[in-house]
Amino acid sequence: MSTTAGDQSLVSSRTQQWDKLRKDDCPVCSRSGWCREKRTSDGRRLIECMHTHDSTRPGFMKTKQNRDGQECSYYWVDGAAIGVKPSPNGKPKTVERASPKTCHAAYLALSEVLGLNAQHHAALIARGLGDEAVTAGRFATLPGDRRGELALAVLKLVKNQGITPEDLLRVPGFFRRGDGMMALAGRSGLLIPVTGADGMVLGMVIRPDHPALDPAGKVLGKYQWFTSSGRGGAAAVAMAHVPPVAGRGPHEVVRLTEGALKAAVAQHKTGMPTIGLPGVGT
Ligand SMILES: [Zn+2]
Repeated sequence: MSTTAGDQSLVSSRTQQWDKLRKDDCPVCSRSGWCREKRTSDGRRLIECMHTHDSTRPGFMKTKQNRDGQECSYYWVDGAAIGVKPSPNGKPKTVERASPKTCHAAYLALSEVLGLNAQHHAALIARGLGDEAVTAGRFATLPGDRRGELALAVLKLVKNQGITPEDLLRVPGFFRRGDGMMALAGRSGLLIPVTGADGMVLGMVIRPDHPALDPAGKVLGKYQWFTSSGRGGAAAVAMAHVPPVAGRGPHEVVRLTEGALKAAVAQHKTGMPTIGLPGVGT
């Protein structure tokens, strides 16, 4: 997998917006020399990675062959918007995300409205979480139906906090359907609230009950961000998960792992504060 300097100059002259990752290693595959990046005007980075083709990685957009027949995959990285498709002029189309306070209120209400079904509850216990950790984690079940009704139930709960329908429609995962009804996006499955260091729920990750499969039958997206960027709503932002800890305070030792659910399980089993980094795969 190498290419000559001559090839590289041909590539860059064809697609002038792409810059070679010269100084840094590629944030997706950690190698240097071949992958490229594009920075959007609002400071986000789209990576064209030539080595890692992982559709389960948050920020993954697509894999395709370039004109030279080489496989390349596209990812948004660095707190970038998830699942935003660039419009023909290269700028992603998206709705401005609601404030952290609004997202937190909406996701708490969503978790309350949805509840957790017996099957998902049992699966979390089987992974090693205790009942208290399941409750504290505010895990929920996103069903396949009644999406409009459920979104309205959330609106009803957050209205008295001064949140309007327009605010709620800017929370990733909520969107307005063609018929004007508010609804919830995403595949049905387990909803995992993602909390920041301040304990605010700033995002949700879905573990679909029936993940999409590629033509070869391989699972695509075992975990997905709860986002409505594909439905004209706001995009989720990849972020680390800091599971709720009893007696929060400065901790001298924390562990890092990949994935929100893995972090919650590791923290529960060991008592050591564990942060789940985006890049969830398993
Ligand atoms: Zn790469």
